[in-house]
Amino acid sequence: MDVKLSIILPVYNEVGSLDILYNEIKKELSSASYKYEIIAVNDGSKDGTQELLEKIAKKDPDFRAINLSKNYGQTAALSAGLDAAQGEILIPMDADLQNDPADIPKFLKLIDEGYDVVAGWRKDRKDDFIRRLPSMIANRIISRITDVKLHDYGCTMKAYRREIIKDVRFYGEMHRFMPVYVAWHGAKIKEMIVHHRPRIHGQSKYGISRTFRVILDLLTVKFLMTYLAKPMHFFGRAGLISFFLSFISGLTAIILRFNGVHFIRTPLPLLTVFLIIMGVQFVLMGILAEIMIRIYHEPRGRATYTVRSKFNFG
Ligand code: UDP
Ligand code: MG
Repeated sequence: MDVKLSIILPVYNEVGSLDILYNEIKKELSSASYKYEIIAVNDGSKDGTQELLEKIAKKDPDFRAINLSKNYGQTAALSAGLDAAQGEILIPMDADLQNDPADIPKFLKLIDEGYDVVAGWRKDRKDDFIRRLPSMIANRIISRITDVKLHDYGCTMKAYRREIIKDVRFYGEMHRFMPVYVAWHGAKIKEMIVHHRPRIHGQSKYGISRTFRVILDLLTVKFLMTYLAKPMHFFGRAGLISFFLSFISGLTAIILRFNGVHFIRTPLPLLTVFLIIMGVQFVLMGILAEIMIRIYHEPRGRATYTVRSKFNFG
């Protein structure tokens, strides 16, 4: 029987929560009529998480554990889990018991209704105000800039249809932009309120500095998504603007000349030449970027599009 559901847990020093979470998930899925797997990715924990994972994996064949060689961060841990997953539907969740396995069936229901991504929204979020405030601001900004309207990008618990996410690569701390990325590729997204619980065991791995990194990541994502397919449109436009300004500047110099002002006395000739050089540079940069984009897409067979489904292709 094919695996229908993969639960993916990024785990970093969560020895206090893991066993409880495992039992909660098992209980939630005990009446499932389909096959599922739980994939725990140990992101270089130093607190006995690894031993615990191995112990559970020995007694439960549906529980699969991956040990990363060091602490790479939540995004990398999630990616490792997504890459290894066999299920048709992938549900990542936090391993610290803040997400609730009781929400799993609701996610599945919405995917069955035809959505490609269901994003959790911790409407009643159980973290201190000092943590919630920056994330409220970040959520507003992301929603504004990316045009993918969600209330809570940071919630790990989401559900993805596998085809939609399997070829996507995530760098740095980009996991919160997963829904944005797939939405830009045409995925149908639905937001769903999830139950959120306070953290009881272990500690949060993030501080306030995360907000700034999120904003920087946002700029990268926006730039990559807008210009990855057509860098010439970005650099070329800057080049054309530069050429245009140099034309205005040169023309002004000539007009002044015929009105008796010697143009050597103004900065205009210098400005004209400078703007022409800038224009040439921008256009050349655009050409280089176009070449690099081709190199980027070709060797690893990266498609420039995402296929939702195929029929009669075996
Ligand atoms: N995590 C991870 N690697 C890290 C940091 C965190 O795998 O370097 C995991 C962590 O174990 C938890 C999830 O990512 O399962 C979310 O982390 P945390 O609860 O600290 O974040 P918060 O809920 O405070 O945003
Ligand atoms: Mg947490």
